[in-house]
Amino acid sequence: MDFVYTARPGRVIFGRGARNRTVDELDRLGLKNVIVITTADQSATAGEFAAKIEGRAGIVYPGAAQHTPTTVTESAMQAVQSVSADGCLAIGGGSTIGLSKAIALRTDLPQVVVPTTFAGSEMTAILGQTEAGKKTTLTDPKVLPETVIYDPDLLDTLPMHIAGPSALNAIAHSVEALYAQETNPIISMMAEESIRALGAAVPVFTSGQGDVAGAYEQGLYGAWLAGTCLGSVGMAIHHKICHTLGGTFDLNHADIHCLMLPYSAAYNREAAPGAMAAVARALDTDDGPAGLYGLTLSAARFKSLKDFGLTEPDLDKAADLAVQNPYYNPRPVSRDGVREMLQAAWEGRKP
Ligand code: NAD
Repeated sequence: MDFVYTARPGRVIFGRGARNRTVDELDRLGLKNVIVITTADQSATAGEFAAKIEGRAGIVYPGAAQHTPTTVTESAMQAVQSVSADGCLAIGGGSTIGLSKAIALRTDLPQVVVPTTFAGSEMTAILGQTEAGKKTTLTDPKVLPETVIYDPDLLDTLPMHIAGPSALNAIAHSVEALYAQETNPIISMMAEESIRALGAAVPVFTSGQGDVAGAYEQGLYGAWLAGTCLGSVGMAIHHKICHTLGGTFDLNHADIHCLMLPYSAAYNREAAPGAMAAVARALDTDDGPAGLYGLTLSAARFKSLKDFGLTEPDLDKAADLAVQNPYYNPRPVSRDGVREMLQAAWEGRKP
């Protein structure tokens, strides 16, 4: 074994009802006047938090949007300045957490983050921002939240067409962590356990059959581990192709991750046998990509690239873009290989 492992600092509070400990966590950081961040859809939830934190909410900003547009960040920065906020309290999915991180990048204000999807952004020092339609990604320790409060009860309101793809988005972090260039035994353990927890949870909450509350709890636990994997090691072809497809054709982040995961795993099937064996073990199946395909079928809103409205010439364009800048992947990234993977995903066939 030969590896480097860097732990990321950060405090995690996990459990049903953990949201009721938000005041204690703000006090622990000495925060008396926070900006409460969320999306328009979740403004009622943010309002409840603001009421619960007993005078520590300076202002509620329900304007977060997907891919962290800098125009939104600039307007949120005015809100921060208008009340001299001393911290951020973010309640929501990756979009909300992205805005909190963007403010932290500019101000170094401490962040208490309450995730309500499985996206995992809260565990990373990565921030993606969009300016004039172009998305760029940076890594900076300043954007890593100080405290993360996971309360599975908050996922009760998550619409099913968002919950399923969001869970597959989390599994994608773990699958890629298993074959990452810098992977290490701790991350591999977390990745496999995360796929096990999420893989068991998805069929339960997407079907509504069985212990749905327990499945959200398991799923959020898996998402925490998956986010930790994403924050610790580099990603490969799956994240690259989703970034390319999402950016070029303006596709929803979780939906495209959900659809592409079995196909990107199949791309690496022979080149990463140890990782695929771990995926298969975690999903209690014989073949990792086939197990992921089964999960995608139960979770995906769009079951093929055709369903997203893409055409075959779009696949050519995406394949060209995906091979422009070389990057690490267990199987070398070739234009023909990527094009074949996209064709299978366009048809929605079993990989
Ligand atoms: P999202 O945050 O955009 O949420 C999707 C929708 O669901 C929103 O309208 C939101 O208000 C709503 N919602 C979220 N939780 C809800 C709940 N519990 N109940 C009801 N409605 C709820 O989606 P996402 O997939 O979590 O995040 C996607 C964004 O996160 C992308 O911009 C992506 O790039 C980013 N991301 C970043 C990282 C990172 O490490 N930087 C990691 C993962 C994702």
